[in-house]
Amino acid sequence: MVKKYLMTPGPTPVPAAVACAQAADMISHRGREFHELFQYVSTTLREFIGTTREVYLLTGSGTSAMEAAVANVMSPGEKALVVRSGHFGNRWAEILKAYGVMVRAVDVEWGRAVNPKLVAERLAEDTAGEIRAVFVTFVDTSTGVVQNIEEIGGIVAETNALLVVDAVSGLGAMDYRMDEWNVDVTLSASQKSFMAPPGIAFISMSSKAWKVCERAKCPRYYLDLRKYRQWAEKFETPCTPAVSTLRALGKSLELMMEEGLANIYSRHEKMARATRAAVTALALRLFPLNPANVLTIIRPPDEIGADELRDHIARNYGVTLGGGQAQLKNRVVRIAHMGSVGPFDVITAISALEGALADKGFVVELGAGVAAAEEIFKET
Ligand SMILES: *Cc1c(COP(=O)(O)O)cnc(C)c1O
Repeated sequence: MVKKYLMTPGPTPVPAAVACAQAADMISHRGREFHELFQYVSTTLREFIGTTREVYLLTGSGTSAMEAAVANVMSPGEKALVVRSGHFGNRWAEILKAYGVMVRAVDVEWGRAVNPKLVAERLAEDTAGEIRAVFVTFVDTSTGVVQNIEEIGGIVAETNALLVVDAVSGLGAMDYRMDEWNVDVTLSASQKSFMAPPGIAFISMSSKAWKVCERAKCPRYYLDLRKYRQWAEKFETPCTPAVSTLRALGKSLELMMEEGLANIYSRHEKMARATRAAVTALALRLFPLNPANVLTIIRPPDEIGADELRDHIARNYGVTLGGGQAQLKNRVVRIAHMGSVGPFDVITAISALEGALADKGFVVELGAGVAAAEEIFKET
């Protein structure tokens, strides 16, 4: 048996206490115990989102909340500006098209952050105000890049357009301030930095977005946020939610509040810095130019396919790493450090990487990456 270590950018490792919380007795989603859980989860999530607005809980993966965002603030035939920053930026465009929205794109070279000025220019060109919303990805997990939401928010706030942010990756691990940054819609999900199993997504909207929601004409039923708003008054959801996953999320939020937001963010910053230092010490190339603190994406040596390396690591070392998506398929390896991660997770991943590179005949100084990571962890 090879002991397993999960280091993919979602789902992420679930702490035992969180896994156990899921196994508790089933409860009615129309009862008092559920109301308390609902209240705790939705109010605690506000702290991570940085909003005073209500947070609505959906049953589905992160993409369900992306779809909810589109269906609730857009009408068919309207125009939206999408920052296509990677695989998940493309997903915004696909969902919008599926709902009959006309997509205008700011295409960003994969691995780079968008220059917010490009968004400003596109909005300025739109003198008729036809662009109703700007869709962005906080951390595009396919490229490992973090976008400057604060600056984009300041630009969009000057217009009548809404700013919609997919924060599935990054939220809960990196500082995020929906209200302060003028974000109109923020969404995320349970299975990344929130250390819970997949199954719950959540979304919050500004009053500017709610006004648009009232007259938006995209068809919606299961994801109609007006219904969620009504039911939230009684601390319930319109239909049966994934009660067990919600219990798990409640537990992880308790753990996260115990650690404290500032500590969580600095821990992720340290994990990221250590991982980057380690792969740099191994002479591996980092993929993104503006790396986020939740994952490190590397380009293995050209002679070895990324998927072959990943597969070797999984089979022989038990460490599951993420592969490249879309145009990066078989070109990169993604090492996640989001959620329930500490120094020894990073060291494990780096050590496996060193071993596998050596197995494949590359000259690596065993321990060089681990030592570089340890230097970072030693800092106080
Ligand atoms: C994981 C992820 C999603 C959602 O994916 P699901 O599989 O639907 O949960 C969306 N956006 C980003 C940036 C992600 O990393």
